Amino acid sequence: MAWWSRTPGLSQEPGEPKKSVPKGVWNKCERCAATVYEADLDANLRVCASCGHHFKMSTDARIAMICDEGSWQEHDLGLESTDRLGFRVNGKKYSDSLKAQHKKMGSGDAYRGGSATVGGMQVEVGFFVFEFMGGSMGSVVGEKITRQFERALAHRRPAIVFCASGGARMQEGVLSLVQMAKTSAARSRLREAKIPYIAVLLHPTTGGVAASIAMLGDVIVAEPEALIGFAGPRVIEQTIRQQLPPGFQRSEFLLEHGMVDLVVPRADLKAQLVRLLRWFDPANVGVGDAADTLVDDTVADDADDDLAADHADDDGAPARNGRNGAGGNGVAHAADDDD
Ligand SMILES: [Zn+2]
Repeated sequence: MAWWSRTPGLSQEPGEPKKSVPKGVWNKCERCAATVYEADLDANLRVCASCGHHFKMSTDARIAMICDEGSWQEHDLGLESTDRLGFRVNGKKYSDSLKAQHKKMGSGDAYRGGSATVGGMQVEVGFFVFEFMGGSMGSVVGEKITRQFERALAHRRPAIVFCASGGARMQEGVLSLVQMAKTSAARSRLREAKIPYIAVLLHPTTGGVAASIAMLGDVIVAEPEALIGFAGPRVIEQTIRQQLPPGFQRSEFLLEHGMVDLVVPRADLKAQLVRLLRWFDPANVGVGDAADTLVDDTVADDADDDLAADHADDDGAPARNGRNGAGGNGVAHAADDDD
């Protein structure tokens, strides 16, 4: 008998049922390969305690994490996609795929929009449902986002969208593509009315969603290491025939290159959103209990710009063209008038 052969019965009593770990109790971290207990992972907002890797989070858990307790009021529950084009992929009807999704997840589509309070402030907030056909944006998703922006406009409330999507829903063809223009137009009406819109990009945010509302936030926030981009890295490499740099299309790379404004770990995400909402509406300062460091930073930036403007007067150099550049230039002109 070979030395590695196991002697039956040494580790298991005869007749004893084979021990196995129940499915869904343990998980393995993609990044550090640590074995993690599912309940611990849930308690830690589905972030690996060993390395900080952010696992995907269910939309229900995300809503509970962001909205103040008991404040979430979902809208447009009756909207469901139809197969207007009679589309088939590999012989499978789109209408059958939709039926299978509804059987698995109940009614609805890949987006949930509603009214809620965040840190005590009223917002119109929506979430891509990645669990539903990869969060793909078809006509129902586009319509729900548009209605969310319209409610934000009617009530003059900030809008927040949590993006997690593979892009446009190919089964709806041009009806899907037109949602990019439709949601972008609704978003521009918010801008005209000076109502803030915050985009939060989750892993992954790609295709037509990345090419429309995801990149149109007044502030664009991303979770760590989220894949964000229009085309996937493999397609880009094949097209430009060059190897892409490490970390390409990840949140941190995009922050470094000016495509996103903030990369915020999940545990800090709500507090950061509260700071941003207060920053946009100073009347809300004092609401909720999160720190208001962003408000302080802004004051500090204004002071910096004033100094830059003063300095520009001294030596004729242009004023720093930063985020508050317009304010700085305004001060410079005022100084000229005084002279
Ligand atoms: Zn890990």
